[in-house]
Amino acid sequence: MTESIYILLGSNKGDRLSNLERAIQQISLHVGIINQKSSIYETAAWGKTDQSAFLNSVIRIKSKLLPEALLDKLLEIERSIGRLRTERWGPREIDLDILFFGDLVIKSEHLQVPHPAIQNRRFTLIPLAEIAPNFVHPMLQKNCLQLLNECTDTLEVTKFL
Ligand code: ATP
Ligand code: CA
Ligand code: CA
Repeated sequence: MTESIYILLGSNKGDRLSNLERAIQQISLHVGIINQKSSIYETAAWGKTDQSAFLNSVIRIKSKLLPEALLDKLLEIERSIGRLRTERWGPREIDLDILFFGDLVIKSEHLQVPHPAIQNRRFTLIPLAEIAPNFVHPMLQKNCLQLLNECTDTLEVTKFL
């Protein structure tokens, strides 16, 4: 089993809560053990702001899959929940991003770990700091709570569930 893997789940299309629940169910069936789940937070859409608000949550899992295989599996789960890739940052039933894979640093064509935008997004840092305040970002050498306190993103993130 690997070290702790953190995954960000997001949805802003269809039945957002049920999309998150289905993704978590698929992950526990096909990816590995879910050790922790954050609360669910709501945030206005980031980047492209002319679309509905997102629900986001972060989970900590353990898996036997290697990073590339994990990414493939997550993309497959996205497709099974009905996500069609059209415009970048457009509305989506489900988005599954690998935030951290233990302390690994990966920069391949298809996969960057840690996810390059963690430190720029309150909608990621708030659920992440809820379950992993002391986890140290392997490149920035700061823990998630420090990253949240230093983040200049102003989008409001409110607890949803
Ligand atoms: P962002 O990554 O800025 O949040 P996004 O989630 O909207 O944007 P997508 O269209 O979902 O981007 O993903 C595009 C591609 O990003 C995926 O097909 C995948 O190959 C690649 N990717 C690179 N690093 C990661 C990662 N850490 N987790 C998930 N996908 C990643
Ligand atoms: Ca994303
Ligand atoms: Ca994604």
